[in-house]
Amino acid sequence: MKSTGREPWNPRHAKSEPPSAARDLELEKDSRVVSAKPDEEDKVIDISLRPTRLAEFTGQEAVKENLAIAIAAAKKRKEPMEHVLLSGPPGLGKTTLAHIIAHETGSKITATSGPAIERAGDLIGILTNLEEGDILFIDEIHRLSKVVEEFVYPAMESFNIDFIIDKGPYAKTIKFALKRFTMIGATTRSGLLSAPMRDRFGILAHLDFYEPAELVKIVKRSSELLSIKIDNESALEIARRSRGTPRIANRLLRRVRDYSDVRAAGKFDCEVTRKALDGQGVDTAGLDPMDRRVLKAVIDIYNGGPVGIDALAATINEEVDTIVDVVEPYLLKAGFLKRTARGRAVTEKTYDHFGSGKKSRPAESNLF
Ligand code: ADP
Repeated sequence: MKSTGREPWNPRHAKSEPPSAARDLELEKDSRVVSAKPDEEDKVIDISLRPTRLAEFTGQEAVKENLAIAIAAAKKRKEPMEHVLLSGPPGLGKTTLAHIIAHETGSKITATSGPAIERAGDLIGILTNLEEGDILFIDEIHRLSKVVEEFVYPAMESFNIDFIIDKGPYAKTIKFALKRFTMIGATTRSGLLSAPMRDRFGILAHLDFYEPAELVKIVKRSSELLSIKIDNESALEIARRSRGTPRIANRLLRRVRDYSDVRAAGKFDCEVTRKALDGQGVDTAGLDPMDRRVLKAVIDIYNGGPVGIDALAATINEEVDTIVDVVEPYLLKAGFLKRTARGRAVTEKTYDHFGSGKKSRPAESNLF
């Protein structure tokens, strides 16, 4: 690539001090309160707060209706359900739905994930142990390697697998006949799934961000399970700042409870909630330090964009995947970021949110 002489400052390669805008962004780098990725505490709490029946699962009405029909039809025909692909950003309930399907159909569920299956051999034990009607849940299914993916096709389609042992003239194919199982795949990036893989799922369901009213219901349900007394206003404040994501709503609820216990003598009202959330670095639009770093980088360093995702990721020293999977889906949905053919750009709403006007571009201001 030809250098323009104006490469973005990259902390990984930089020998010198970063430019001041980039330095400010580095300082804002903080642990993600609002990250939709589960931390260790979430993993434990997620299980205790997880609804077990479709009727307890709030929102996603179209997805629930499709699944309810598929579950009822499978039960009526006494057949295993077709394979299900659940897609959508992290923390929206894909794993929860997989467990609900298992519960509603009375099936045993075995859970694994794309990165955990390194070789086709890793899957043989799992697949051959499945009984008729069992569910195999593969999280992050888009991260299965090509080789494993190709190994999985016949298992999904005709419940057979061919496993080749040894190489060259000694190669032998061992055939395994599998019981009819249901595969449930979850992915944050359905676009990365190969077409043949996607075609093998009979039921495709996409989960979208939740509305504040739905998150209020989720926060109230979780409060009851955690024995927290919460008023409507506080629940709405948490809902508004949760980036449309139940996992974040549940996490913020716990952080407000901590604050209330330690700083407010157990009082749990809207004022306490606001103070607690401000202290977590979550602003009124639910943006956390990482969201702000991304948006400020586009504004301060790329003059509002458009900027390519690789350059943006290098500037704020983050993985491209983290920005694409975790950060930008909500920023796009909430209208703080837009995608153009030439990269990501901020919007008027972003400038309004940060209280700064759009600067004219040097190229434009030089025109006259
Ligand atoms: P994903 O697999 O999409 O990352 P999870 O299924 O692990 O998300 O959901 C994270 C947490 O959010 C779960 O523990 C559950 O408590 C909560 N949750 C998600 N969706 C809902 C929902 N629709 N209703 C109630 N709680 C939900």
